[in-house]
Amino acid sequence: MEDKVYTLVSRETKKEDTIITVRKDIKIGGKQIQIMAGPCAIENYEFTSQAAKACKKSGARILRGGAFKPRTAPYSFQGLGEEGLKILKQVGKEEDMATITEVLDPKDIELVASYADILQVGARNMQNFALLEGLGKIDKPILLKRGISAQIQEWLLAAEYIVLNGNPNVILCERGIRTFEHDIRSTLSLTSVPIIKELSHLPIVVDPSHSSGRPSLVPPMSKAAIACGADGILVEVHPKPEEALCDGQQALLPKDFDKMMQEMKLIAKAVGREI
Ligand code: PEP
Ligand code: MN
Repeated sequence: MEDKVYTLVSRETKKEDTIITVRKDIKIGGKQIQIMAGPCAIENYEFTSQAAKACKKSGARILRGGAFKPRTAPYSFQGLGEEGLKILKQVGKEEDMATITEVLDPKDIELVASYADILQVGARNMQNFALLEGLGKIDKPILLKRGISAQIQEWLLAAEYIVLNGNPNVILCERGIRTFEHDIRSTLSLTSVPIIKELSHLPIVVDPSHSSGRPSLVPPMSKAAIACGADGILVEVHPKPEEALCDGQQALLPKDFDKMMQEMKLIAKAVGREI
C-alpha cells in the first residue's frame, strides 16, 4: 500500500457519519450543530463565568478556553496551566456546559483529560506525532485543528494517528491556512468542509475567529460554515475584549455573539439541521 494513504478515517472504510458523544445530551456530527464558545484563554474566574453565562444563554453547549496557550512570542501570556483548568471545569459545571481546552504537551494529556470533556490539538501541533499517539490512548473526544500550512491529506493522516492508536473520537477543525494574503489573519478554507465530508466520515467544525483575526468577519464566516455543512463552530467570545490577555482583537462581544447565533439558527434550519 502506498504509505500516504489514510484508511481508518476514510469514507471508503466507513460510509456512515461518525457521531461523537461528548456528553449524553451533546453529540457532534449528528443533526444538531454544536457551538463551542468562550474566551481564547482562561484568565480568571470572573471573565470565564461571564463569557460562559452569555454563551450558554445564546445557545452554546460547550465552553472553550485555553489554559496552556501556544503563543508566537515567548513573552506573551502563556496561560494559567492547571489553575486555568480548574476554573474551566468549575464554570462548566456551574453553567452545565461541556468544556474544550488545548493540550500542548504529551506529558499533560492525563492532567488535561482529568478536567476537560474535549481535548484540542492546536494548529501548531497538528503534526506533533508524540502528542497524537498519546491522545490515541485516551477515550475523550479530540478536536484536531488543521495546521496553518497543512494539506487536507496531511490533516487526515494526523487524524489517522489518533484513531490508529485507539481513539476513534476525532473532530476535525478548519481554522484557516497561511496564504499570501496579508489583511486577514488566515485564509479560511471553507472548501474543507464539503471535501472532508467526501473523503472522511469524521465530523468537521470551523473556527471563524483565528481565521479572521477581527470580530467583523466572524459572523459572516460562521454563517457560511453552517450553510456549507459544518458540524459546529469554535468561536472566541469575551465580555471585555480590550482587557483580554490573548486574542482580544478578534473576540466577539456577547451581544454580537447572540445576534450571530440567532442568524445561524435560521441557516441551520434551512439546511436541515438545528442548533
Ligand atoms: C486557539 O484556539 O486558541 C488557538 C490557539 O488556535 P490555533 O491553534 O488555531 O491557532
Ligand atoms: Mn485564540
